[in-house]
Amino acid sequence: MPDQTADAESAQGAQPRMNVESFNLDHRVVKAPYIRIADRKVLPGGDVLTKFDVRFTQPNVDHLESETVHSLEHLLAEHMREHTGDVIDVSPMGCRTGFYALLSGDHTPAQFAPVLEATLRDLLAATEVPAANEVQCGWGAHHTLEGAQTAARAFLDRRDEWEDVGV
Ligand SMILES: [Zn+2]
Repeated sequence: MPDQTADAESAQGAQPRMNVESFNLDHRVVKAPYIRIADRKVLPGGDVLTKFDVRFTQPNVDHLESETVHSLEHLLAEHMREHTGDVIDVSPMGCRTGFYALLSGDHTPAQFAPVLEATLRDLLAATEVPAANEVQCGWGAHHTLEGAQTAARAFLDRRDEWEDVGV
């Protein structure tokens, strides 16, 4: 059976295939903001996991400040669980341009978008960053509700572009 992946890559002149899905994504051609399935895994028992790439800012052009990322992480992690029971993890990308959301079950971007939208609307209405203290967090002083809400508002303002990844 021919290796279609290798054929496609040689046709594009791409890098050798790497283990991490996002390392095989050309970050120059994506169009943030967007949501994209980064991984879909079928477990041995047949259950499915879906991992979303939730990109807030354009890679290599813009990024979120560290306090903003941290507060968004807390707010997304807490509020998204009010809209779905499928959340396993919401974690920031090291490049600070977005987050990964890992969910149990099969989810399309079109199904996940309303969950994310409702989460971000909660975030805009929040009066504090949850668990932003030395008991519940590893850097309780490193937060900005205003920064998180500004980033959330900018992301929500372009809601109609979320499913257009550009690739
Ligand atoms: Zn924290």
